[in-house]
Amino acid sequence: MKRIVMKFGGTSVEDASAMKRVAAITVAQQCPERIVVLSAAAGVTNQLLRTGELAAQGEEATAFDVLSIIRTRHKTIAKQLLPPSFSAPVCGTIDSWCDELGDLVHGIAVLGEATLRSFDLLASFGERLSALIFHAHLVELGLTAELVDARSFMITDHHFSRAVPDLTAIPQKLEEHVVPALCRGAIVVTQGFIGATPNHITTTIGRGGSDHSAALIGSLLDADEIQIWTDVDGILTADPSIVPDAHRIKVMSFMEASELAYFGARVLHPDAILPAISKNIPVRVLNSRHPESHGTAIIAQADSSGHCIVKSIAYKEHITLISIVSTRMFLAHGFLENIFDVFHKYRTVVHTVATSDISVSATINDTTHLAEIIGELGQFATVNASEAKAIVCVVGDNLRNSPGVAARVLNAISGVNINMISAGASEINVSFVVDDAKLEDVVRLLHDEFFNSQDINRDIFD
Ligand code: ADP
Ligand code: ASP
Ligand code: MG
Repeated sequence: MKRIVMKFGGTSVEDASAMKRVAAITVAQQCPERIVVLSAAAGVTNQLLRTGELAAQGEEATAFDVLSIIRTRHKTIAKQLLPPSFSAPVCGTIDSWCDELGDLVHGIAVLGEATLRSFDLLASFGERLSALIFHAHLVELGLTAELVDARSFMITDHHFSRAVPDLTAIPQKLEEHVVPALCRGAIVVTQGFIGATPNHITTTIGRGGSDHSAALIGSLLDADEIQIWTDVDGILTADPSIVPDAHRIKVMSFMEASELAYFGARVLHPDAILPAISKNIPVRVLNSRHPESHGTAIIAQADSSGHCIVKSIAYKEHITLISIVSTRMFLAHGFLENIFDVFHKYRTVVHTVATSDISVSATINDTTHLAEIIGELGQFATVNASEAKAIVCVVGDNLRNSPGVAARVLNAISGVNINMISAGASEINVSFVVDDAKLEDVVRLLHDEFFNSQDINRDIFD
């Protein structure tokens, strides 16, 4: 391999020993061109955003308390990781950035409000701090490493907090800022999640977005592999916080991974797959606490046999189910279009849909505009919204062509009330909606059904 992108998530850079492991993993890669993309240390993005909320609510003193926790944590990491000659200038920069954060927090408190633009600037310090410290560590180890601020190349639009990277502008910027460093033989260290508008205003590309940053960089620089280093052994057959004995999936297809990510498997951001697909770059999900594990390889086609194999169970909790029944008693021409126009108008993403002659059920996550949506739909339909629902999704290549799977799903959870089912829209998922309260039971029941340790295929699962 000539060029790889390695992304390390929050837990992989949470303290000095985690950063040491990351350095060892970086050094161990037998690859001449390495680009390391870092997240903020675990919990720091939330804390930074919290300072803005507190300041806007008039609780400036509490905001400063949180800021001082952030300052102390990073200075502690720097001092534990670096010898004094290195830690002194790094701590100087940490202090000056935290002072800048303090000015920002004070400004928000004076105004009594925080805009998305100021939240993005606040949040950007998390990734900037971890990259600053990690870069110094590599240099101190005697490696040639260059810190490249992602805002110099990750050009985005102005949608603060969910900015969209500009795929036409970024390649040129990567040529200017990243490629020369690689040509100089340096390991490039940069930040995930953050970017800037063409006029240099700091943006962020959405929570959990460092995976997306890494995938974009990898795809636009034609990397040979994109590695997502996290705190689990790879993509598992279910969320390990619900199913502690979930199995590692050794290999899966881009489509399976993207479906899983889209349906809530936090381990991989949904936007991380498309850039990889566009250039057919393998993505590997690995554990920075357990680097010798082989992780999960995500490739174009995981199984060419055409057999259906259920690979994993994902879920999205706390969603809202909207039932829309046409008041005209038949599915009039334009009914679906009118419904989706309303969701589009309020920029509300619809996840799953099921339709019958006169009714449509749809699930949404973002309820910011729920009242307006119900109001407008109410002009041509009877609308009912139920909160506290969860979508559960069974994912695997070729599911649509295998008659037994839906029956097994329904059988396994026969005691549970299902609010809606969607199958067949995609080759590879069967999804349904249940009450939030039943979610954990349902995931466990399905896991028992499809991943019974005795008869799982050991070529695919660990
Ligand atoms: P990072 O900070 O490295 O980006 P995340 O917390 O975003 O890490 O993602 C890793 C977490 O995703 C795991 O710790 C696990 O709890 C959760 N997770 C949810 N579903 C799955 C799954 N199917 N396989 C693996 N991990 C999962
Ligand atoms: N630090 C950011 C977040 O917590 C981005 C990331 O970790 O991927 O959302
Ligand atoms: Mg993540």
